[in-house]
Amino acid sequence: MTKIKIEYDYDNCIGAAVCVAVAPDTWELDDNSKAILNNAKDLGNGQFELILDIDDPTRLTDEIEAAKGCPVTVIKVTNLDTGERLV
Ligand code: SF4
Repeated sequence: MTKIKIEYDYDNCIGAAVCVAVAPDTWELDDNSKAILNNAKDLGNGQFELILDIDDPTRLTDEIEAAKGCPVTVIKVTNLDTGERLV
């Protein structure tokens, strides 16, 4: 089990949809063609945060690749077990 934190800056998303394609359980597009981080906490000012406990290594890889694939780097991923910034 790995605990990660995903941080997302909605206002600067350009709707490229890489995240949605790579990790569709976590990301979807809204009516403005911007990404929504499902079940995330709204921190205000367009900032969202989601804590996930992940058992499946493939899912973990998908979350990292989704963040890495974002062309405007509005997704950050941190391993909360180690404190390591993954993306
Ligand atoms: S990959 Fe980045 S720019 Fe594209 S929809 Fe996801 S968050 Fe937005």
